[in-house]
Amino acid sequence: MNAPIKLDRSRLDAALARIPRTHELLIDGRWGAGRGGETIERISPAHGVTVSTYARASEHEADLAISAARSAFDGGPWPRMTAAERSKVLLDVASLIERDAEVIALLDCLESGKPIAQARGEIAGAADIWRYAAALARDLHGESFSTLGPNKLGVVVRDPIGVVSIITPWNFPFLIVSQKLPFALAAGCTAVVKPSELTSASTLYLGKLLLEAGLPAGVVNIIAGTGADVGAAMTSDPRVDMISFTGSTRVGKSAMATAAQTLKKVSMELGGKNPQIVFADADLEAALDAAVFGAYFNAGECCNAGSRLIIQRPLAERFVADLQRKVRDVKVGDPLDEDVRVGAIVTPDHLEKIEGYVAEARAAGAEVKVGGTRLEHESGQFMAPTIVDGVQPQMTIAREEVFGPVLSILTFETADEAVAIANSTDYGLSAGVWSQDFNTCLNVSRGIHAGTVWMNTFMDGASELPFGGYKQSGLGRELGRRAVDDYTEEKTLHFHSGPRTAWWVPRPSET
Ligand code: NAD
Repeated sequence: MNAPIKLDRSRLDAALARIPRTHELLIDGRWGAGRGGETIERISPAHGVTVSTYARASEHEADLAISAARSAFDGGPWPRMTAAERSKVLLDVASLIERDAEVIALLDCLESGKPIAQARGEIAGAADIWRYAAALARDLHGESFSTLGPNKLGVVVRDPIGVVSIITPWNFPFLIVSQKLPFALAAGCTAVVKPSELTSASTLYLGKLLLEAGLPAGVVNIIAGTGADVGAAMTSDPRVDMISFTGSTRVGKSAMATAAQTLKKVSMELGGKNPQIVFADADLEAALDAAVFGAYFNAGECCNAGSRLIIQRPLAERFVADLQRKVRDVKVGDPLDEDVRVGAIVTPDHLEKIEGYVAEARAAGAEVKVGGTRLEHESGQFMAPTIVDGVQPQMTIAREEVFGPVLSILTFETADEAVAIANSTDYGLSAGVWSQDFNTCLNVSRGIHAGTVWMNTFMDGASELPFGGYKQSGLGRELGRRAVDDYTEEKTLHFHSGPRTAWWVPRPSET
């Protein structure tokens, strides 16, 4: 069982000494404060001390950033460079990310509360994505049709779409901007980037690496600020051509409605309520480990969290008993501790929201088997890994994204019933299926309405594989070999050769 969480002050001091503590806005290749001189302070959710102070952008800075991106697109060198030249810059950024990986990992760890070992993995994954985008940049091409007739040739080219507004959430700050920005740049677009106001430091730091890699001024502009003013300006401004948004379904819908006024292209990566289905013939040790990982990775503050465990009935009692033993031993604590698996909860308000979901489930008749409450701590906010048993598909806890370390247990008898339960929410981001029978895996995965289905694994990813949601989990896909195409417009060039067959023929009276 977890003892009260103690934090090692000397470890924190050593970490703070390694990172930049103040951050300015990057607009048109220059760093500066906002016009009003206002700042945002970020308090570490684990340590309760201010770790970062950012210059706070307002609508004024959003306007400047959009102007810079527009000019860089309309008149600057970036969209006109060869793919090889753009690719070289992206490769250099990847190397710089690797050079400064420890600083970037510390920034994300201290601002989001995620364990340092996990943050390091995310930064390594991000560098890999920049390299993958660099490779795709050189393969961006259109199509040609020489089949239209002897005098005709059709060529379809892909033009960069223009200025892209990139808006990201707080749970994977550096990884998510890296799922968007390198592909937009590979296509030849320019961008305005707004990280979450809770975790802006690593994205602002990325700005330094972009300039060091030789990205021309104005191609990427990074502004820290809130959604209500800066985010709203980035989605409404007619000079922006596309919105690439990752965040909650609620805010995503509102950003889409705003973007619709000027008919911008939108790409939406939104929430999830992901099921893991465990059949009685599964490799139980593997399924147990993946159930714990799926529910508590990133403290459950994860769009892909496997927050619904749907277990075949004959197995359920034993599986939940084994699960309880494992969950009690998950190490929760100081995110700077190398062995910690579950760090802090992002804000006090969010912790209250998570506890509210557990209380509501209890009131609806579910049983809390493990956890259910916040943990004793010296500073910050921590939630005990929680198992809620006896959950029914219609309960709020089975339908809404809790976004905390809370696992709901549901049961099923037949494969059809498992699929029906898995599909019984508004979301469709990802799912897991555990069975040693190939037929079961294939049939169930084909029945599930989700963008990714893992079989006998969970939350695996690769830059090569598209990622995104069905239903209210989103619109469009990121990563994969078409990721650059998403930031382009198709233009048809239709050529004709030889004499023209006249449309106009003289009237008989004129002959
Ligand atoms: P959020 O929706 O509250 O905020 C996301 C971003 O939108 C932030 O930068 C915020 O400042 C901005 N924003 C807020 N109001 C805005 C507005 N009116 N116009 C434009 N931008 C606005 O989400 P969050 O709490 O930061 O992140 C958690 C959510 O993100 C969860 O729902 C999670 O599932 C989702 N998420 C999805 C994926 C995915 O790939 N599908 C990945 C990570 C997180």
